[in-house]
Amino acid sequence: MIVRKPTNGIYVGTVKIGDYAPVSIQSMITTDPVHTEKAIAEINRLAEAGCELVRVAVPTMASAKALKAVRAGIDIPLIADIHFDYKLALEAIENNVDGLRINPGNIGGEDKVLAVIEKAKPKQIPIRIGVNAGSLPKHILDAHGGHPTADGMVETALEHVRILEKLDYRQMKLSIKATEVPLMVEAYRKLSDKIPYPLHLGVTEAGTIKQGTIKSAMGIGALLLDGIGDTLRVSLTGDPIHEIEVGRSILSNLGLRNFGATMISCPTCGRCQVNLFDMAGIVEERLASIKAPIKVAVMGCVVNGPGEAREADFGIAGGNGQGIVFRKGEVIKTVPEAELVDTLFREIDQYLENLDEE
Ligand code: SF4
Repeated sequence: MIVRKPTNGIYVGTVKIGDYAPVSIQSMITTDPVHTEKAIAEINRLAEAGCELVRVAVPTMASAKALKAVRAGIDIPLIADIHFDYKLALEAIENNVDGLRINPGNIGGEDKVLAVIEKAKPKQIPIRIGVNAGSLPKHILDAHGGHPTADGMVETALEHVRILEKLDYRQMKLSIKATEVPLMVEAYRKLSDKIPYPLHLGVTEAGTIKQGTIKSAMGIGALLLDGIGDTLRVSLTGDPIHEIEVGRSILSNLGLRNFGATMISCPTCGRCQVNLFDMAGIVEERLASIKAPIKVAVMGCVVNGPGEAREADFGIAGGNGQGIVFRKGEVIKTVPEAELVDTLFREIDQYLENLDEE
């Protein structure tokens, strides 16, 4: 059972973050908003896959001006990612963004931060302070042995936090990412003990889909198990759709969110007499459209399968030319192997129909 740490609640558009709100899933598009139609299509595709907040890089004034049209074409909150130039932040606010990602310490001085806050305040637009191990300021690196440490990262984050607090602006969330999982986990743990603001989790530059999935599951998963984290972005070198799939999988496997049916399957061994790899793929594909939180097992043999998967709501196990359908560990049908998957889904459909009628 995960006991979540209390944090302040903020709203990014309509999505609540912190104060025990469901841990939300973010992603970032790969398109400059000046290519408005392409950006809108990319965001809507991500939203369809389950993205709940989207971030967009704003490299130029033309990009900032294009945000209005992008915002009008989408239904999820839009966050502008801005580096160094406070005027881009002002323009982004003018153009209806729901959140900003800036670092108050690197947008050109306190007067510039004040200008952004004065514009953000009436609309209560939250700011994410995003600290990355790879870009700590020189004075912090000098004070911490010349390389990024968790303490140096926390100190950097706190410097940014103090700037906003001094201006009496507390609509903020923080990230403190690193590409090394142990460093990232240590930094988030230390930061969460020092501030009441919600945390955006992520492993930065996590890598390709395979590598990045493993690193994100370890780093983000470890923190969520500690009760730390209010929103997350899995960062992958690949189609951002995978970021959403992995984010959902992390949250559902921790029992923090329910996104529909889940599948477990055995790795197979010398007892398996069916093509379980193909069978598991087919079952996974057919389960994708089921929204009810059922757990389905796909097991390689009738000897051990039902017992090993007795927690599953439904399951199948292969045999020699025939297989069984089981429910909560009990065999309910034996059918020819070719009918196994269809029989399983008939049972599931019937169960779901009965649920609807109750
Ligand atoms: Fe092996 Fe059967 Fe266990 Fe699968 S369920 S790993 S085939 S013993």
